[in-house]
Formats: sequence, C-alpha cells, structure tokens
Amino acid sequence: MFTYNYRLMHEPRMRAAVQACHRAGIGLTAMKTMGGGPVKSDSDTEVKMAGRFMQKGFSDYQAKLLAVWEDSRIASICAQMPNLTLLAANAAAAVGQVRLSQGDRALLARHAAETCGDYCAGCGELCSQGLSQPLPVSDVMRYLMYYRAYQDPGLARDCFAGLPGQVRQELARADFSPAEAACPRRLPIGQLMREAVNILA
Ligand code: SF4
Repeated sequence: MFTYNYRLMHEPRMRAAVQACHRAGIGLTAMKTMGGGPVKSDSDTEVKMAGRFMQKGFSDYQAKLLAVWEDSRIASICAQMPNLTLLAANAAAAVGQVRLSQGDRALLARHAAETCGDYCAGCGELCSQGLSQPLPVSDVMRYLMYYRAYQDPGLARDCFAGLPGQVRQELARADFSPAEAACPRRLPIGQLMREAVNILA
C-alpha cells in the first residue's frame, strides 16, 4: 500500500518503482489518491478541469480516482469515505463506464505541475536533515493536509496535540531555511509550520 496519485504518477522514480513492482508480481494498493496537501492555492486549471469534467458527467474528485484506477498495474485503491456522499461518488466512479481522455489526463498533469508547491510528498528525510534539531516537518504537513484538504479540523488538531509540547514550541521559532533549500517542491516550510502552530494549537 503506497501513496500514489495524479501528482506522483509523473515522477520518474515513482514510475520506475511502479513498473518494477508490476514486473515482480507485487500487488499495489494506492492510498492518498486525491493528492491533497498542506496548501490550497487558486488555480485556473483547476476551475477549467472542474467545468470540463462536470460537462462529461463526473467530478474532479472522481477524475482523480479514475486516473489511478485506469492503470491496470494498480490493483486497488484504499480510500477514506467518512460520509455517504463520498461513498456514492466512489461507487459511481468504480462501476461507471466513464474513462478519462488524453485531454483529461493532460489537464490533471497540468494542474499537478502548476500546484506542485501545494503538495508535500512525505519525503521528511530530505527536509529534516538540515535542521539543527529533529522536528517532524512531514507529519505537521500531513496535519495541515487534514485541516485544509480533508477539511477535518478535529483530526488535524488531535494529531497536532499528540506532539510533545517542546516540539510544538520549536515549530514556531526554528529556522527552517535549510529545510526549505532541501525541499524538492519548494514548500515555504517555516511559514507553514508557524501557520500550523497558529491554526492547530
Ligand atoms: S522535503 Fe518538502 S515535500 Fe518532502 S517532506 Fe519535506 S516539506 Fe514535504
């Protein structure tokens, strides 16, 4: 079971890894397929995408599922379905006859490229190594994702409250510039850590 979505599927190392697993006969279950992140920026492509998909009878949410499902190397998707609306949308996408066109996929890829800095890929070993003390940057990014992408402030705050008090204090005042320099997605880590302390504490 691995994190896989319309953003990560274009990265060369991910493509090679999926192909290697497929060749080795390893079943792959994708999770975090929506590609939500700690930042939610406005994107013209996202608006265009939503309009285009709606005309074709499905939502951008369903399109993101289809982008993963239509790859026969992916055996299944593990999706959180906290309400009946999402359950119905997932079921409709699973049994529907709709398929993404090349143009649909290109739009998803364009959106992924334009909003690259909205998404934390969870590669915490990269951003943590430049810090003078160990701080759980990728975990806090995930809590912000719960808050902003999943719109689940309760879960985000519960997770954040589980961090030791000393760590929460350091998140607000540490110098994250070495971590920002190491981040392949150029996330404004210091600003996001301070936002997390303000929003989630
Ligand atoms: S290096 Fe960037 S993308 Fe990777 S975990 Fe750290 S903040 Fe997220």
